[in-house]
Amino acid sequence: MQTNFTLAQLADPDIAEADGILRKCVHCGFCTATCPTYVLLGDELDSPRGRIYLIKGMLEDGRPATKKVVTHIDRCLSCLACVTTCPSGVDYMHLVDHARAYIEKTYRRPWLDRRLRDVLARVLPSPRLFRLALIGALALKPFARLLPGRLGAMAGLAPGRIPGASRVDTPQVFPAAGARRKRVALLSGCAQQVLAPEINEATVRVLTRLGCEVVVAQGIGCCGALVHHMGRTEAAHAAAKANIAAWCAEIDGAGLDAIVINASGCGTTVKDYGHMLRGDAAWAERAAAVSALAKDVSEVLAGLDIASHASDAPRPVVAYHDACSLQHGQRVTAEPRRVLRAAGFELREVAEGHLCCGSAGTYNLMQPVLAQGLRERKVANLQSTGAAVVAAGNIGCITQLAGAAGMPVVHTVELVDWATGGPRPRALAAEELIE
Ligand code: SF4
Ligand code: SF4
Repeated sequence: MQTNFTLAQLADPDIAEADGILRKCVHCGFCTATCPTYVLLGDELDSPRGRIYLIKGMLEDGRPATKKVVTHIDRCLSCLACVTTCPSGVDYMHLVDHARAYIEKTYRRPWLDRRLRDVLARVLPSPRLFRLALIGALALKPFARLLPGRLGAMAGLAPGRIPGASRVDTPQVFPAAGARRKRVALLSGCAQQVLAPEINEATVRVLTRLGCEVVVAQGIGCCGALVHHMGRTEAAHAAAKANIAAWCAEIDGAGLDAIVINASGCGTTVKDYGHMLRGDAAWAERAAAVSALAKDVSEVLAGLDIASHASDAPRPVVAYHDACSLQHGQRVTAEPRRVLRAAGFELREVAEGHLCCGSAGTYNLMQPVLAQGLRERKVANLQSTGAAVVAAGNIGCITQLAGAAGMPVVHTVELVDWATGGPRPRALAAEELIE
């Protein structure tokens, strides 16, 4: 694609990067077929190619973002299916990240929109505030269908119960069972530890059982993904730096073989810390070191001996749901399947597995109509597998699909933990799953 930035514009390293990305696009349109919003809406401006044109025009123009551009960029899920599909290697992820930051700086959203985004940016990364907000949402849940738009979506997504805080999420070291094979740090996260503390508990159990010493580092918190995808660069960088400082203290101390992340939306962001802070001389090197160590929990489990710990007990058939951040953001697709099979589960593939379930961070709150359309499509594909359980590697997908799928939706690591000696996952407790 031809671009027309001035030399003065290209002196800005972010514009220079965007220029390089834009120039790689050859307008072929292959990406449109796998873009969930184009599949649903059929509008070129809601396809990757259309958005790339809008971003190009916005950045070349250099003036504040327009309502039209904001509308179509806001509808993008950042699912990155287009990145997987693109034969020219267009780095849409960093292009749309830059576009969102530009919009945040130059566009004044309607009052209600601004307040809602402020609240989400403040509440979701804080486990204490998020737990309080969920208590309020739980009270509204019975009336979710009667509430308008985003309010109804928020109430509808509230879990049926709000678990207490787990002791695994406080800074500490969990020793390996038997000989130590690895020393890893766990990102205890923010929203996930409130919605489903059993995921971190299962992660610690299974990793220690398989020979890992697990550390929850002092000072660890939200990865910054939520605010990063809102274009709030300063807040995202602050969150990243806090985590980098916490993990570097461990790297410099007892050392780390990996940083384990069990929410793939967070994993994609931590793996990108090196890029996010590339222009910050004080942090760039440490950020790159942290990104190099970051691994999805399935990548770490795939290198451990699951099979010899797995019992012979019968297991339910599992439909494995590929979270977009894992399959497109991190290109991790084989490892979750490998670890589930090593744990003794029979897997069923899900049709249209490349399409997003509509969760996408705060997307299901901000764009409830599109998110619901994608959820219904995903649920139909999951149900047609005939599986008894859905496994996924991202809390956003689990929350989006639980309750709608008509079968339990659990984290991959909960199933591996169960199969290797841990408790039956709570979501499966009351189910008769094995024929
Ligand atoms: S990130 Fe997803 S929704 Fe956005 S343009 Fe790419 S495929 Fe479409
Ligand atoms: S597939 Fe890649 S090169 Fe083709 S239009 Fe989409 S982004 Fe551009």
